[in-house]
Amino acid sequence: MRTREWVVLIIVIAAAFSFTFSYFSSLYYHQTTKTVTVTETIELTPTATTLTPDEEYRESVQKLLQDVMKWVESHRGLRFKEEVDVVILTKEWVIEHWGIGFLNLTEVRLEEKILKSLFIIPRDFNLTKFKAGRAGYLIAASAGNKIYIVKEAFNPNERLRAGGILAHELMHVLQGEYFELPEPATSDERDALNALVEGDADLLSAHYISEHGGVKSNPLESYFDPLTALWLFPYTYGKPFVEYVYEKEGWSGVNALYENPPRSTAEVLHPEKYLEGWRPLKPSFSSKIGNGWKLMMQDTLGEYFIREMLRAHLSFFAANESAEGWRGDVIQLYEKGEAYLIRWKIVWENREEAKEFTDAFRELLQKVGANETSTNIWTTATEVISIKASGTEVLIEIVSPPGEMMKEAVEAASPS
Ligand SMILES: [Zn+2]
Repeated sequence: MRTREWVVLIIVIAAAFSFTFSYFSSLYYHQTTKTVTVTETIELTPTATTLTPDEEYRESVQKLLQDVMKWVESHRGLRFKEEVDVVILTKEWVIEHWGIGFLNLTEVRLEEKILKSLFIIPRDFNLTKFKAGRAGYLIAASAGNKIYIVKEAFNPNERLRAGGILAHELMHVLQGEYFELPEPATSDERDALNALVEGDADLLSAHYISEHGGVKSNPLESYFDPLTALWLFPYTYGKPFVEYVYEKEGWSGVNALYENPPRSTAEVLHPEKYLEGWRPLKPSFSSKIGNGWKLMMQDTLGEYFIREMLRAHLSFFAANESAEGWRGDVIQLYEKGEAYLIRWKIVWENREEAKEFTDAFRELLQKVGANETSTNIWTTATEVISIKASGTEVLIEIVSPPGEMMKEAVEAASPS
C-alpha cells in the first residue's frame, strides 16, 4: 500500500462521440449532442510554470477558492492540512505539454489489439489518436495540494459551475491528505478504484451545486459509444456507488470505503453486493503457452468491459443481462512475430450465467459476420475464435492470422 499520486483532470466533452459509432450495428443509440463534465485520473509529474494572467482573473479565482474551501471543510467534515495553490494554465500550454506525453505507447498498442479482437473498435481505428485527443478538453486538474485550471475553460464568475469544479478538485486534495489506496493490479481494479475516487469528488460537487441552487446531472452510459463508456466508467458509475453508501452510512461510511475499496467494476455496479461482502474470484492459467509465443500482457477486464463489448453489437438490455453474473476473469495476450494469440477465461456465478454469456457472445460473432466453420470454432478475415464452456467457466481463444496457426496454438494452449 502506498499513497497514490492524486492527479486528476476535469474535462468537458462536447458533442456525441459519434466518430466511432458508424461502426456499431446497433441502432438503439441516440446520437444526441451533450455537454458532460467528467474527470480523468492520469499520472504525471506536473512541470507547469505559473503563467501571468491578469490580476483581476487571478483574484476572482482565489476568492472563489477560499469560499469553496470553507464550504468543503464544513460539509465534508475534513480540514485541509496544507494551503492549496492554484496554477493558471492556457489551453495551448496544456495541449502542448499534457497531450500525447501521457501515453504509454506500448500499452496502448496492446490495448488496441484486445479492443479490436473483441470487436469493440473497428480494425482501422487509431486508439492513440483517440487517447491523445482528450487533452484538449482539460478544464482543471489537481496534484498534491495544487489545483490547475485552464483559463479559457474556467470562468470564476460562473459561480455555480466554477464552484462545483473546485469542490470536485478540492476533494481530490483531501483524498491525498487523508486516504490511501492500493496500486491497481488490473484494468478492472483500476476502474473500480477510480470510481471511488471520482465518485466521492462528484458527490461532493453535486452537493455543492444543489446547495447553491443548481442541479448537477450525471452522465449516462447510454449517451456514449462503448469505447467512450469504458473510459468514462468512474464518472458514470462512481457517484451512484458512493451515493448508495453515503445514503446508508453518511460520510463516515464513505471514508471507510478507502480502507476496503471495491476491486472490480462488478462491485461498483452492484453496491448492494459490495456491502454484503461479495468479492470476485481471481482465476488463473495453470500453464504458459510455449512454442515461441511471448506473453505480452495479462489483465482482468471485468463485468463492465464485457457489457460494453456486447453492447457494441447487441441491445443495451441483452448486454447488461449477459454480463451480469460475472465472477472473475483473466486474459492473456501472446505474440510471435506478427501473429498474436489471446486467451480469456471467464468464471460465472453458475452454469446458467455461463450459458447466457456464451449465447450472447455467439450472437455477437454472427453480427460481426464471423462464420462458424466447425462446432464452436469461428472464423473472420483476420482471426480464428474458439469457445469452450465447462461448468461455470468459459474459455475464449483467439488466434491471428487464421489457418495453421490456430491448430498450433490450440494444441499449445490446451487445457489449463
Ligand atoms: Zn476528479
